[in-house]
Amino acid sequence: MISLSAELQGVLERLPDHISQSLGSGGYRHIIQSHAESLDTIGRDAEKTTAKTRAQLTCKASSILFSKHRVVVPEEPSYIDHQKNYWSKTCWLPAAGFIKPLNSIEVALSLKIITYTQSRFAIRSAGHNANPGFSSTGEEGVVLDLGALNTVELSSEREIVSLGPGATWEKVYEELEKYELTVVGGRVSGVGVGGLILGGGMSHFSNHWGLVCDNVKNFEVVLADSSIAHANAIENPQLFRALKGGGSNFGVVTKFDLYTYPDYRVWYTFKVYNASDSERVIKASERVQKAMDEDDRIGFFLVTNSAFLVAGMLYMGWPEETPGIFRVFEDIKPMMDAVPETKGTQLSVIQAFDMSEEGKRESGTATTRPDADLYLELHKVLQDIAKSAAVTLQFTFQPIGKAAVNKGNEYGGNCLNIPRENQSWLAMMVQWNDDANDGEARSQISQLISSLKSTCKTRGHLLDFHFMNDCSYTQSPFQGYGKENLAFLKATAAEWDLQGVFQKLQSSGFLLSKM
Ligand SMILES: Cc1cc2nc3c(=O)[nH]c(=O)nc-3n(C[C@H](O)[C@H](O)[C@H](O)COP(=O)(O)OP(=O)(O)OC[C@H]3O[C@@H](n4cnc5c(N)ncnc54)[C@H](O)[C@@H]3O)c2cc1C
Repeated sequence: MISLSAELQGVLERLPDHISQSLGSGGYRHIIQSHAESLDTIGRDAEKTTAKTRAQLTCKASSILFSKHRVVVPEEPSYIDHQKNYWSKTCWLPAAGFIKPLNSIEVALSLKIITYTQSRFAIRSAGHNANPGFSSTGEEGVVLDLGALNTVELSSEREIVSLGPGATWEKVYEELEKYELTVVGGRVSGVGVGGLILGGGMSHFSNHWGLVCDNVKNFEVVLADSSIAHANAIENPQLFRALKGGGSNFGVVTKFDLYTYPDYRVWYTFKVYNASDSERVIKASERVQKAMDEDDRIGFFLVTNSAFLVAGMLYMGWPEETPGIFRVFEDIKPMMDAVPETKGTQLSVIQAFDMSEEGKRESGTATTRPDADLYLELHKVLQDIAKSAAVTLQFTFQPIGKAAVNKGNEYGGNCLNIPRENQSWLAMMVQWNDDANDGEARSQISQLISSLKSTCKTRGHLLDFHFMNDCSYTQSPFQGYGKENLAFLKATAAEWDLQGVFQKLQSSGFLLSKM
């Protein structure tokens, strides 16, 4: 068997010239050479041992290559902060360690150690996915924590920006607005570039721009064999399409090159309405959704809770006055203006949408055709299920039009198979604090998922699409991708990952092998 140190040297030898030159591989070569004996002993020790020990050995080998404080094991004082660095407390799992690469060479070397020791692993960008085990893992695995890969680099012509997966969207907007530019990205602060794009990515103005993944010009990805590839319309076009919505099945993405736009100005207001006005609010919302077909500069979402509804009204640019379509809400008195009418920017709107408070969460999704009567029924379903004060249950209507699908096709197509018609992606969420309420919370979200779906189905409006970014671990987004796309994704995964590293060693996720 080839030794671990030789395998690691092999990774460096196969680096593309531009990466080797820009990041420099000499330092790593030297460290591997001078610690070959220790690395090879670790490699041998990893044979025939338990999953937990293999994960610990992965940390030990990584701490030889990188400085010690970049491999955070339970003995380190900062371990607890890393363990708790997830949006949902359900993901605060006790990993054997957090490995924190600084660049794509370090990702490639880390992955080589992982595959050599056959350690379980999870990939984490900003840890906002609420599904436990997706970007987190227990003591039998390690977390490849990409938080430090968070650069935002504008090209010299300023038409492309290269984003590290660990950057958050507010950081991206903040950097770009210095140049009066923006990108198509996330809507809430704290969410990571990596997970959001690989799941498709919905922005406030998807009808205008397409999904976030459609706006990627090029992915830089560390593959299962630790080689580093580019995927774009010319180089590896199949992998390119698969990464646009195919999740974490193909590699560790270390860079996303996105098109930039000058439309960073946004008009917006968020209004909170009493549930007693739900009928009028929902009817007005459906009218806005219809208008989005004619005017793709409108952005809208409606959060529904058992006690209140929050309408997010947005418009691309700075109109002179309240955009005409939002007058449909004129006669409905809000309980409060959570955010008053503002001529702001993509950055200020994301800052206004803060969901960072600590809590346990689970998510879920369904897709329906638009219909105000059905929307009302769905809200009643929610009110019937949400009976406990200790658990908060809600769902958000996220309108998406056929324009968004067409935009995706214009950009070369993604793998999502979104039906080419107007629809709403329902993003469900349960939130609670006490472990004592775990059972109740999980039962409520599972009831909500099945009841919303069955209500849509009864009305003949249920669509098979499941938006990966809002999907529960109990759901299967690929089910809606269609047989042809699924076969394409499986073939692409098999071609780029011969040993099935991302299927077998990855802690969890929406893995094709589960289909
Ligand atoms: C408050 C909030 C607001 C949200 N708003 C939006 C929104 O506006 N639009 C939208 O589309 N979604 C939204 N989402 C959903 C969000 O996009 C997903 O939860 C997404 O997975 C989070 O990305 P992350 O990088 O923070 O997550 P992580 O938890 O770090 O990762 C999520 C998944 O992606 C994988 N992954 C992450 N990075 C990589 C990588 N570089 N290479 C390979 N695999 C990787 C992980 O292994 C994991 O399976 C929101 C979620 C929250 C909690």
